[in-house]
Order: sequence, then structure tokens, then C-alpha cells
Amino acid sequence: MDLYRELPSVDELLRSAAIAELVAQEGQAAVADACRAVLSRLRSEISAGYLDSTKLTLALSEIQAAVRLELARALGYSLRRLINATGVILHTNLGRAPIAQSAFEHIRETAGTYSNLEFDLESGERGKRDVHVDRLFRKLLTEESDELRSAGQPRAAVPTRTGGRGEGVRGDTSTIVVNNNAAAVLLALNTLAEGGEVIVSRGELVEIGGSFRIPDVMSKSGAVLREVGTTNRTRISDYEKAINDRTRLLLRVHRSNFEITGFTEQPSVAELVALAQKLKLPVLEDLGSGALFDLAQVGIQNEPGVLDSLRSGVDIVTYSGDKLLGGPQAGLISGREDLVKKMRSNSLFRALRVDKLTYAALEATLLAYVKRDYNAVPTLRMMQTSKAEIIHRAEALTRDIQSQKLRVELLDSESLLGGGSAPSSTLPTIVLALTCYSLSANELAARLRASDPPVIARVEEGKVLIDLRTVFPEQDKVLTQLLVNAAAV
Ligand SMILES: *Cc1c(COP(=O)(O)O)cnc(C)c1O
Repeated sequence: MDLYRELPSVDELLRSAAIAELVAQEGQAAVADACRAVLSRLRSEISAGYLDSTKLTLALSEIQAAVRLELARALGYSLRRLINATGVILHTNLGRAPIAQSAFEHIRETAGTYSNLEFDLESGERGKRDVHVDRLFRKLLTEESDELRSAGQPRAAVPTRTGGRGEGVRGDTSTIVVNNNAAAVLLALNTLAEGGEVIVSRGELVEIGGSFRIPDVMSKSGAVLREVGTTNRTRISDYEKAINDRTRLLLRVHRSNFEITGFTEQPSVAELVALAQKLKLPVLEDLGSGALFDLAQVGIQNEPGVLDSLRSGVDIVTYSGDKLLGGPQAGLISGREDLVKKMRSNSLFRALRVDKLTYAALEATLLAYVKRDYNAVPTLRMMQTSKAEIIHRAEALTRDIQSQKLRVELLDSESLLGGGSAPSSTLPTIVLALTCYSLSANELAARLRASDPPVIARVEEGKVLIDLRTVFPEQDKVLTQLLVNAAAV
């Protein structure tokens, strides 16, 4: 029997009552596309030999439901919200920092209509888009900085590097915004070192995920990489020996996703700054995850913030907007006003600039910092969540999901800052370790991913681990239900 002849035509399908109803709701074109997709799938299943006559009859009896599903998929969003139960606060694959409520309120308020993005309301003339955030960065990185950093904690807890310029940041720190930190590094290198040499330690020639490699970015910028030292040891004298009349810049790159331990040596930033100042060369530090918040307050030491860098005399710092800052994707370039000004007038800046949505989200995020409203920034709130609070929530969840089918243990574990802060930067936490009697850990994790909204969890040693640090407290209820459903077979 020719199975293909059993298939209805698109027109026939469209005329059936159930499908006609869909046409009324979603329009002829979209429904016809869905019908075509379903029919073509059936055709390929026939040709692959998956469908015999009986199976085809069954499939045809369900064809309307298949069209409905296909239509929902085609007209639904591909980018979806999900529940991050991994405990990795800045998870690059899961969108890094969730932005503050005030950030999307500000987007809604300014992006759905016209705004003064580049318009000076006072003079009625053309303005600059960076003024909206530069004023806040100036506040955060200069005059109020001491107070900001010591909020709640004695100053002594802050690791401060002392540079040739002494304590405190000069009054002329300026900031510009580009698409991401990779773009920030590109623009800074191109502006300050095109055609010249940049000295960098072999221990800092890093690759961040997503093929950001310092040597590649450097060659795209037109600067020539001058590697010094060895993978594990670089001394200040190595830099000194490499400097010649083509040298334009000393570069320091944060080891965002790896550590070198054992027999190691790296000059301090202060030493680097002192050398650079002697020779009148600028120092650029690619911090990656530049924090504007004192991480010592949440028990994370030795992770330099943007202010630490500027205080120790680094001329230009580059960092991401959506890492520890907790804002939208962006690349920030902060530092000496004269150098930032050069970057602003580089034609590359025009190609790398960000749009009004980013400025709105960034302005709202920075305002939360200015107001010391750290709880408004989700990543900061997650970092500050105490283990006791997580235990409290984990116990409540355990009571609600523990069953014949699902065994729950509470285990000590560690949440990760992630997103290119030091790999050892962890926060103590408690995880729910789930064992389902009828499913393997990987099967349970797959079911959780297939739920709506999807739940992303860690699998370790045959258990599914749920870390509530990265779950918003208001998601606990729905998470409970999704866990129960996933374990129900
Ligand atoms: C994350 C990171 C980058 C890349 O930043 P994006 O904002 O993702 O472009 C570059 N350098 C370092 C050191 C980083 O940690």
C-alpha cells in the first residue's frame, strides 16, 4: 500500500474543523506552515520506514494535536525564562546577571517612547549618550568611594593596593560603555597601542569562554604582543627588559577562570604601576569581572575591585557590565580622562557603542549602588544570602517534596560566583541532593530541563543537586511543584 497516499493535503487539513479554529485564532499563513511541517515530518518517517499502516493510522488520528503543538512551538518564544538551581551566580550560558527590577522598569519607561539619549535638554542641542552613566560612575569611583566600600565593614577588610600615585583615585576618572568587555579591551588596545608593542606576562595570556583570547584580540587591535616571563613566574625585571621605544602599554589580565598555584611569581600591580610611571607608559588592567561592591563583605578576599585597581594607579580598567556589577551586558572602560577621551573619539567606538536599552539598565543598576540599595541588584542579593537563610528555605522545600518516590538529603556545598571571577571564589551553601527511585540522576535532570519553566540543576555522584542561592525566593513555590512533577512517573 502506498502510505504516502494516506496523507491529507495541506488544504484538506486546513478545512478540518479543529484546524479551521486555529486559523481563526492565529491566521492562515502560520497554520498552513505548521501543517506543512507536520506533513513533511510524517513523509520522512514513512520513507525511513518508521511508520507502517497501523502506526500511520494512529499518527493521522492525532494529526490535529500535532499541528497545534507545532504551531505553539513556532509562535512561541525561543528565548525563555528558567530557574537556575546550579548555584552558579554568574552563569554565562544562563544569561549571566539577572538585571534589577528597576532596570527593566527604566527600560520600559524610556525605550518604548522617545528619550533624551543624545539630546541636551538645557541647550536644546545634541548631547552625548554616555553622560547618563558617566555621572554615576564618577560618583562611585571617586568622591564617595571610601564610604561606599566601607559600608557595613571596617576599611581594614578591604585589600587596597598602594601605587605610585598614593591612596585615593584622581578626581578625573571617566567611564565609557561599549558592547562587552571583549570590545572594551579591543577599543582600549587599539586606541592606546595600535602599531606599537604591548607587554603582557605569559601567565596572563588567557582564553575566556566563547573564544575570547587575549593574543587574538591583541592582533585584531593592531597592537603587537610582547610576551614576557614564563607561565608560572614573571618578575618586574622581565617587563623592564622588554621595554623599548616601540612599547606603548603594560597590560595586566585577570586570571578569570584559572589559577596558577605552586612555584609562582607575579609582580604586584603597584610594582607594575611604579615601573610604568617611571617610563611614562600607561597600565591597562583587564579585570573581567570588575566589582563595584566590596567582596570582602561577603567573605571573598583577594578579588580586586575596580576601585582597588584605580587606587593603585592603574590608568585604565576594563570590565563587564553583566558579571559582578550585576547589570546588562556591556563593556566598561574606566580611568584617566585624557585616555578615555581618546577612546571616545576613536571611530571603533561608534561601531562598538551600546543602545538605549543598555544605558537605561546600566543607569538603574548604578543608581542602586549610589543609593546603597544592594538588595535591589539580584546578583548582590544572592551573594549576600546567608547559609542560614538557604537552610531555612531548603528545609521547607524538603518537607514539601520528600516522598516515596523522591529521597532528599541536605548536603553542605559551595555556590560559585562564576562568570570570570577567580575560580576559587565560592560561598558556603546547602544543597538539596535528590535521588529518585525510578529515574537515574541524569533522567531526573532531563525531566527538570523539560519542565515549564525549565529547571537547571547540577548532577554529581548520581544525585541531582539543587542550590537555592540562585533560585529567587519567589520561585520556591513553583520549583516545589516542578520537582514533585518531575519525580512522578
Ligand atoms: C569575562 C572576561 C572577558 C570577556 O568579557 P565579555 O563581557 O564577556 O566580553 C574578558 N576578559 C576577562 C579577564 C574576563 O574575565
